[in-house]
Amino acid sequence: MIKAVRGTRDLLPPDTALWNFVEATAREVFRAYNFQEIRTPIFETTELFARGVGEETDIVSKEMFTWEDRGRAASEKGQSLTLRPEATAGIVRAYIEHKLGDRGLNKLFLIGPMFRRERPQKGRYRQFYQINAEVIGPASAGSESPARDAEVLEMTATLLNRLGITDWNLQLNSVGSSQERVKFNEALRAALEPVKDNMCVDCQRRALTNPLRVLDCKVPEDQPIIETLPRITDFLGQESRTHFDAVQSILTKLGVRFTLNPRLVRGLDYYTRTAFEFTHGALGAQNAILGGGRYDGLSEALGGPPAPGIGFAIGEDRLVMTLQEKTPAESVMRKPDVYVAPMAGMNGEAARLAHELRQQDLVIELGDDSFRLKKSFEAATRAGAKYILIIGENEIKANAFALKNLASGEQVSVPRAELAERIRA
Ligand code: AMP
Repeated sequence: MIKAVRGTRDLLPPDTALWNFVEATAREVFRAYNFQEIRTPIFETTELFARGVGEETDIVSKEMFTWEDRGRAASEKGQSLTLRPEATAGIVRAYIEHKLGDRGLNKLFLIGPMFRRERPQKGRYRQFYQINAEVIGPASAGSESPARDAEVLEMTATLLNRLGITDWNLQLNSVGSSQERVKFNEALRAALEPVKDNMCVDCQRRALTNPLRVLDCKVPEDQPIIETLPRITDFLGQESRTHFDAVQSILTKLGVRFTLNPRLVRGLDYYTRTAFEFTHGALGAQNAILGGGRYDGLSEALGGPPAPGIGFAIGEDRLVMTLQEKTPAESVMRKPDVYVAPMAGMNGEAARLAHELRQQDLVIELGDDSFRLKKSFEAATRAGAKYILIIGENEIKANAFALKNLASGEQVSVPRAELAERIRA
């Protein structure tokens, strides 16, 4: 048997109803904040991610699906391509390529699959889905304002609340400007030098390659050491501090609760200043439902104009997992209003009636005239239909149909013109 590739999975009904509910709710919330949809290719040049996300990150150094795409003709050059492991680099590439900065401030969202070659486990897949939102534009359009950070955070909180996930925890930090981060990294490296040999192997490696990531370590034995390390908060300059204070003060005014977490760092190199994660207890070790932050230098790193931005990525798989505990998929799924059951030779008439009812926004499951009535009833019950409507020669002649409520067993004869109204009632 040929099976789905390890780390990938099929999303099946009824669960897909929950996925659609999440996406429809997200689109509705984004609309209220005037975000517009963008779609970018699921593969890009490898160089984009190497430069955008950072060579030293886990994602780029070991998790990308990359292949050498040979040219099809002698005149065509081969190139290294990669399935996107995240969305922001592609969005910023599109921003630069299409000069979106000329439009002023861009508020964009993207929903789609991302690919990382991680070790698969519950809540961690090799193809997973993200809902991304980004605010990006020239500084003159206000893209750098702490008001944008607060707006994005409040929008995220609103979306989670709207989905019925109200017990989230917003972890907030400022990781400073890139210059401040260089100083902080040096201080971390120095502080780690005498203690790193007492830490886990990952931290020993990180201490050399990417000391910031040590703060992200979850190994219990390492925690007392990490507590003694320098804090990013002490390395923020006046400008970063003022910006971060302003974000917090707007959030407080909005009543969006948050926890300051000076150890919060993100796995991608491009983040500057505001960084955040929304966590949820039900997810266990994979407790981050979403993460994001500012990326003020990313456009320049990709050869574009200065374009400060802030955004987030919701892990849709984890969001749906969290939701499943409270909202059964069946509760957001629309079941058939009517099962239309044709008697022998009545498939055509039944199809015509089904078409009429569907035009009136009813959900119709259409049976088959080879079915005995008993089989039609069984099929109607299995489909979860509210009513069964029997189409026989007599009914067509009378232009009135036997409509039976499957739950109560009540049956009435209804004229064709009144059917839709009766079914809706
Ligand atoms: P990141 O881009 O790493 O900050 O990820 C943003 C969000 O995407 C995380 O908070 C997770 O909810 C989700 N996510 C990241 N990697 C995976 C994965 N391998 N499987 C499922 N969800 C993921």
